[in-house]
Amino acid sequence: MNIPTSNLPTIAIIGGGFAGMNVAKKLIKLQKFQVVLIDKKNYHTFQPLLYQVSTSSLEPDSIAYPLRKVITKKKNAFFRLAEVTSIDAEHTTIFSDIGELKYDYLVISTGSKTNFFGNDRVEDNAIWMKTIPQALNIRSLILENLEQAAITQDLEVRKRLLNFVIAGAGPTGVELSGAIAEVRNNVIPRDYPDLNVSEIKIHLLEGLDRVLPPMSEKASRKAEKFLKDLGVEIHLNTMVQDYDGKVVKTNTDKDFNTETFIWSAGVTGSPVKGLNASAIAERANRYNVNVFNQVDGYENVFAIGDIALMKSKDYPRGHPMVAQPAIQQGKHLAKNLERLLNNQPLKPFNYNDKGTMATIGRNKAVVDLNKSTFGGFFAWFIWMFVHLWFLVGFRNRIITFFNWTYSYINYDRAARLIIRPFKMHKVEMEHKE
Ligand SMILES: Cc1cc2nc3c(=O)[nH]c(=O)nc-3n(C[C@H](O)[C@H](O)[C@H](O)COP(=O)(O)OP(=O)(O)OC[C@H]3O[C@@H](n4cnc5c(N)ncnc54)[C@H](O)[C@@H]3O)c2cc1C
Repeated sequence: MNIPTSNLPTIAIIGGGFAGMNVAKKLIKLQKFQVVLIDKKNYHTFQPLLYQVSTSSLEPDSIAYPLRKVITKKKNAFFRLAEVTSIDAEHTTIFSDIGELKYDYLVISTGSKTNFFGNDRVEDNAIWMKTIPQALNIRSLILENLEQAAITQDLEVRKRLLNFVIAGAGPTGVELSGAIAEVRNNVIPRDYPDLNVSEIKIHLLEGLDRVLPPMSEKASRKAEKFLKDLGVEIHLNTMVQDYDGKVVKTNTDKDFNTETFIWSAGVTGSPVKGLNASAIAERANRYNVNVFNQVDGYENVFAIGDIALMKSKDYPRGHPMVAQPAIQQGKHLAKNLERLLNNQPLKPFNYNDKGTMATIGRNKAVVDLNKSTFGGFFAWFIWMFVHLWFLVGFRNRIITFFNWTYSYINYDRAARLIIRPFKMHKVEMEHKE
């Protein structure tokens, strides 16, 4: 990897997401370690706003942040664009597509990937959203389907092109379906005068009995109402069984003809090969870690963020796979690594739950905060402020704020562009993680 030898202990960090970037920033500041940040992409992705890229609201650049900026003008800090393929903990070495690296401490922050629960046909034919290229695929697919619908005379084909089906009514599915409904209600009537808007349907399928299952029941009820007001058709207790590229089959008597089937029904950990099998919790695919984020069976290997499964009394199934635990674990681990260096005892991680929120459409949101729930315009305002605050990079915040203000005033979606057609190049294009 072309990293010089150093008198300082080397920390390798795999993954520059919320967890990896936060631990890296703090460790680099300390100047007590040689820090090597490795990611298969050269940018950090602000995943909570991916759905806005999919629905033409934001340009992809505004939710990406160059990882090299984390090490700019910093001593003893390196970034490597590489995919780590395996870990040899016995020889404290990681292997990647650009070579190997010896470490003193290893931090695994590789996040999660989309979970298809073993349904290969859905994986082969659906489309999903975990990365910026995938969000751009969805943007192109929606726009290409609209273009095709505008010229087809075949009623059945047109119905399939204008049916948008989203599986999974967690925050991603809810936000995405609300945003597509806004496009249908505000953009399509102006852009496609030859399309009959009433033919465009947005179906949100959920296996459980309410939308937003991770949030309070009150938030679910509010979100359901907001979605229905926007014209989203919600199908609860509906499990997807198959999708062949044309028809979504479910466990109910309802099947859905669609060219756009978006899978947002879950994620699973994304571990790296090499550690003992017992280090990985089987169903969750996440590393079992103790309260110091040490991976089970290893003293100098740590896991943080989505990939870490830290069970506790309050979180018997581990922390939720969202940004806050990742950010907080990243910052906490940096302090613990400094303690380790100073031969001080490590401090256990305690998650500070700052609440959960989801936005629905252009000016509604629901928020669960300290056992209270509220929804509507005020919640949306808070949602907007929080997302701007946590968006990485001053430039990104300014651009996003400008775009949101513009869209809000004009009911417009500036980025409705088919830059990289999805359908035409589906086979060549990498839309898999
Ligand atoms: C569509 C979507 C919407 C979301 N919305 C919200 C929300 O509204 N609020 C919220 O709190 N959370 C949300 N989340 C969840 C949140 O984004 C994650 O919990 C958070 O990103 C986890 O951070 P992380 O650092 O663990 O992983 P990630 O941010 O996923 O980062 C992992 C990094 O590791 C890199 N990587 C992986 N494997 C390797 C490898 N082998 N070699 C090199 N690099 C590797 C990846 O390229 C990536 O950069 C959303 C997630 C998605 C997908």
